[in-house]
Amino acid sequence: MSGKERYYIDQAFETNWIAPLGPNIDAFEKQMAAYTGAADAVAVSSGTAAIHLSLQLLGIGAGDTVFCSSFTFVASANPILYCGAEPVFIDSEPDTWNMSPDALRRALEDANRQNNLPKAVIVVHLYGQVSKMDELMELCGQYDIPVIEDAAESLGSIYKGKQSGTFGQFGIYSFNGNKIITTSGGGMLVSDDVELLRKARFLATQARDAAAHYQHSSLGFNYRMSNLLAGVGRAQLEVLDERVAARRAVYENYVGAFADRAGISFMPELNETRSNRWLTAVLIDEKETNVTTSELLDALSAVNIEARPLWKPLHLQPLFQGTRFYSHLEGISLCERLFQSGICLPSGSSMTVIDQVRVVDCMNELFDKAAINSAQSA
Ligand SMILES: *Cc1c(COP(=O)(O)O)cnc(C)c1O
Repeated sequence: MSGKERYYIDQAFETNWIAPLGPNIDAFEKQMAAYTGAADAVAVSSGTAAIHLSLQLLGIGAGDTVFCSSFTFVASANPILYCGAEPVFIDSEPDTWNMSPDALRRALEDANRQNNLPKAVIVVHLYGQVSKMDELMELCGQYDIPVIEDAAESLGSIYKGKQSGTFGQFGIYSFNGNKIITTSGGGMLVSDDVELLRKARFLATQARDAAAHYQHSSLGFNYRMSNLLAGVGRAQLEVLDERVAARRAVYENYVGAFADRAGISFMPELNETRSNRWLTAVLIDEKETNVTTSELLDALSAVNIEARPLWKPLHLQPLFQGTRFYSHLEGISLCERLFQSGICLPSGSSMTVIDQVRVVDCMNELFDKAAINSAQSA
């Protein structure tokens, strides 16, 4: 927290706006629209709810197909199942680790041949790195398919001068506790289509018709954000740029610390983009370092440092068993390789330099030991 959150929460108490509507929500939505450059924004209870609403607004239902990045958190694709639609997963490409335009092209060509084009494509910007939006938008534009950007992890990231989440028909952000700014739980749906966002507000408040008595003609949801939490969001948004700077500094420190160590590389940053570096993701070349990712996670855990594997690709999840998957190159899945060889390092905005030195020292100790062991056995 930045400190100012209490001020906006107190305002909500003093004015008795303890509800899923109120001045904090209106202000937070306006500020998010202004920050991202989208025409409007709708504050909702989670990023997942925002994805679900965008699929609903596009009229997606049973029998429809939705393409989605495979290398992501499960929440990107769960709403496809909520709608009764079928997901098809698309691999990553090496420059961003995000959706591969080559894989997407093949998937679209196949779908077009089978007369079964997807109703939407969900493009995820993982760990803050924006996807190759020019290529992806061009491909989807050729077939007139709407794009939903899952920018849950990339708030504050920029692609060619524009905020992530503002390229597709819809963009979604998350304010879950682990994200770069948080409302403890919450999300935001943005779009340039103000009419559709009006409908999103309607659907998110139980789709109540304009009648004094409680009348409902369509299926709605209870997805609005609380006015208390929107107060937290207002204060958090004021420090977003500081948080991005802090996360980028954490990333730079790690890169500097391992600059001379062979077999360690970091998630790339595409030209003309600025990642918020939500999490610093690192790849460990097992052959070069003689260290596996699980050995590394264990070594860190042994000294009470929490690190995590990269997201397990969705096409490998038991939940999505049997779904179709298009790899970047025929027969070679890049996201599976990333999953096997990468981890996320501790990356919090409030991490001290001393904390970071502890992480680096622990890793160096393990790498040095592994190097000595392999020299002795050679
Ligand atoms: C966190 C996250 C979500 C879901 O956001 P919630 O607010 O937790 O529902 C969706 N997609 C990605 C990539 C995420 O990291």
